[in-house]
Amino acid sequence: MIIDCAKYSGNCSCGRSHPLETRMVVVEYGALHRFDEYMDACGLGGRRTVLYDTNTYNLPGMVHVRADRELVLEARGLHSEKSLIEAIVPQLDDPDVIITVGSGTLMDFARYNANSLGIPFVAIPTLASSDGFTANICSVVIDGHKRSIPMHAPALVVTDLGIISGAPMFLTVSGIADILAKHISLADWLIAHLVSGEHYCERVALLAREAMALMERSVDGLLRGERPDFEAMAAAQMYSGLTMQMMGSSRAASGAEHLIAHLVEMKPPRFESAHGIHGECVGVGSIIVAEEYHRLAALGRPRAKPFEPLGESWVREKFGPLADGILEENRNDVLSAFDPQRIVDVWDEIVYIISQIPSAETLAGRLRDLDGKYRLSDIGIDEALKPEILDISSAIRNRLTLARMRRVLDFGE
Ligand SMILES: [Zn+2]
Ligand SMILES: [Zn+2]
Repeated sequence: MIIDCAKYSGNCSCGRSHPLETRMVVVEYGALHRFDEYMDACGLGGRRTVLYDTNTYNLPGMVHVRADRELVLEARGLHSEKSLIEAIVPQLDDPDVIITVGSGTLMDFARYNANSLGIPFVAIPTLASSDGFTANICSVVIDGHKRSIPMHAPALVVTDLGIISGAPMFLTVSGIADILAKHISLADWLIAHLVSGEHYCERVALLAREAMALMERSVDGLLRGERPDFEAMAAAQMYSGLTMQMMGSSRAASGAEHLIAHLVEMKPPRFESAHGIHGECVGVGSIIVAEEYHRLAALGRPRAKPFEPLGESWVREKFGPLADGILEENRNDVLSAFDPQRIVDVWDEIVYIISQIPSAETLAGRLRDLDGKYRLSDIGIDEALKPEILDISSAIRNRLTLARMRRVLDFGE
């Protein structure tokens, strides 16, 4: 499959224009044998520096594309840190285009440097368990803090399914969980739009739903014992990443459920043993959020409560040494920007949106049947923390989700 990105970019009925730097996404078996053709089609000529790490360079079946310079980084200890990323610039040898072969970390090495050198970069994913390949977000550690900074997206993504299909199954399942969780992110986005007037785009939402539908069909096939449809699963990840590029943010791809993954990364007090890769944590998060949203929908129309900022003592108790960053994040709380009564006024619509989210049992059952992670204990979190986990995770990011809105709602409980 070849995705021609021009179809999704440009002026939109939502009133915005959706720029896409990515011109073409290829998802095919043997795609690397035709790599030069795709480069030509995208007008990507000139000197090429191709970036690998010691793992991706030696992957079974790897086709090493033509390079003016090859750079193979030691995989051990490689992580996205500004100083490490900038240190490779002299070795890049003044290229016209950087081609990166690997997963998220190598993507960041190419993205960051291509950005500062003002040149395009091309991604050759070796895993399709992430929707970051077609996104424009760089996750990099600067002065000890992890930051997600919008930067360039790859001009071309060439996914060779012969290589992707060799990835371990748990990574594939993690990628599945990340995409199925868009049920929650899309609901959060639409609800936020209804109550606060936040920008919403049907074209972007449709593309995210298309990603979800592709993934759901693949999962159904997998559970019937069919061979994995790597083409559909990889395409789903690519579509999801494109939504982030179109919006210039992860709004369509990340809601209350993703904050559970951030919680696991941050490890505040009592969450010190939390672990798991991104999609696994998002999958568990989506089950917790689905359960809570369906529960709220069943409670009946709430009453509005006046907005109050998060209490400093609460933040210090829940976040310990991380509290200052959380207080800073919540300084201009999105909850204070609209009248909470608005949530009550559109409650019937919110209940309808929630009714479109699969039940927690359905989401959990799918992940369980795929041998994936579906319980808090599977990601190293004590089940006893469940009643307060969404209060804590919602404070991590100042983004309007229904989980956060609970602070200005009274359900009479
Ligand atoms: Zn739009
Ligand atoms: Zn994700």
